[in-house]
Amino acid sequence: MMMTAPKQMRAWISRLDRTLILAVVLLSSVFPVELFSNTHPALKGVDGQYSGKQGQVLVVKVKGEEQATEVKGTFLKRTIPFFREFRPGEPAGYIGLLGIDMQDEPGTYELAVEVKQGEQAKQLSFNVLVAKEKFAVEHLTLPKAKVDLDEKGATRWKAEQQLVQQALAENSRLKLWHSNFVEPVNGKRSGIFGSVRIMNGQPRNPHNGEDIGAPLGAEVAATNDGIVRITVDHIFSGKGIFIDHGLGFYTMYFHLSEVLVKDGDLVTAGQIIGKVGATGRATGPHLHWGVKLNGARVNPYSLLDLPFKNGVTPPTTATIPSPETAPTPEAAPVRE
Ligand SMILES: [Zn+2]
Repeated sequence: MMMTAPKQMRAWISRLDRTLILAVVLLSSVFPVELFSNTHPALKGVDGQYSGKQGQVLVVKVKGEEQATEVKGTFLKRTIPFFREFRPGEPAGYIGLLGIDMQDEPGTYELAVEVKQGEQAKQLSFNVLVAKEKFAVEHLTLPKAKVDLDEKGATRWKAEQQLVQQALAENSRLKLWHSNFVEPVNGKRSGIFGSVRIMNGQPRNPHNGEDIGAPLGAEVAATNDGIVRITVDHIFSGKGIFIDHGLGFYTMYFHLSEVLVKDGDLVTAGQIIGKVGATGRATGPHLHWGVKLNGARVNPYSLLDLPFKNGVTPPTTATIPSPETAPTPEAAPVRE
């Protein structure tokens, strides 16, 4: 055994050498050029750590960079545009709203941020820990025809999906919203964002928004400034409105009894855009409120929790609080 030890050690050292060389090669291929003076090549995640649960919105801040012409992040193949943020008495910086999709797998992922200054670019790297949210499980009983679409219904549904996709394909390049969000209707929040749905005994897509119970005809307000991208009357969503708030941020309002805006209308925060109803696949009057943020389906109430509303400084490392436990399905009087 003693005789073989040096040989084993040599093999071990040689493996270590190879690993080190490989690491250096990999790092230099990831960070090939030194573009900005006085900066050093960054290692992954060295610029900050963030954490949040599935369905939450994180506020990511890039300080300084006053000369930057564009700041853009990439997270799980989704593009996160950053916007300039000015606050009295604070250094200028860029803010990005990072949406964690309700079905992003728990784990740690990189948020890579590119800061462009004319022809030059530098990379920042953040680690984002995605934590599991406890979503409710809902058992729903609906008329068979509303769960199992016949051929005609399935064709209609497909065409409607395509229409919406086309309408939302191009994000407005301007940020239209401001930092104060409005709850669209005064009502009972059912807490079923992200819930796993069993319809007539069959597992279906999780619930991608929040349902707010309110009387038929209650006024529904736009949560923030934006442009009405498309109004619909679709098989599942019923009468609905999609508002584009700019930079890939959309809100949706479904099951309305009345739509009071038209495609292309500019709306402001708090403006009444429709009335609560039970159109489409709904078992009673309520508003289905949904949010898509750069492709991520997030809990709409995380907008109301954003730490920069009313001029409050966003923390550089933010975790948006959310209820620890998902409410029981019994607490949700309304569906779909
Ligand atoms: Zn719903």
